[in-house]
Amino acid sequence: MDRARNTWGAKLRRTLTCGLPVSRSRRGACRSCGLCCELPNACPFLRFRPDGRSFCAIYRWRPLNCRKYPRTAAEHITRPECGFSFPD
Ligand code: SF4
Repeated sequence: MDRARNTWGAKLRRTLTCGLPVSRSRRGACRSCGLCCELPNACPFLRFRPDGRSFCAIYRWRPLNCRKYPRTAAEHITRPECGFSFPD
């Protein structure tokens, strides 16, 4: 993860733009690594299964910016661990 870009400013930008569509160039799927639940710090609803995979304690009601992360290549700071990519 790019920890230098993991700031409250980046979180604010993601929140303000979360109503916009997910980039059509996004590929892949979530690996349940849980890193995006630590942007910019660990979410109180972040949980881990015995095998190490993460899950959300309020998954059905999670905010839009969580549902859409990573919405664009520019906001994708959890590489290379994240299962999503933006090849274009
Ligand atoms: S960083 Fe990517 S792979 Fe990890 S939990 Fe978030 S969306 Fe899933």
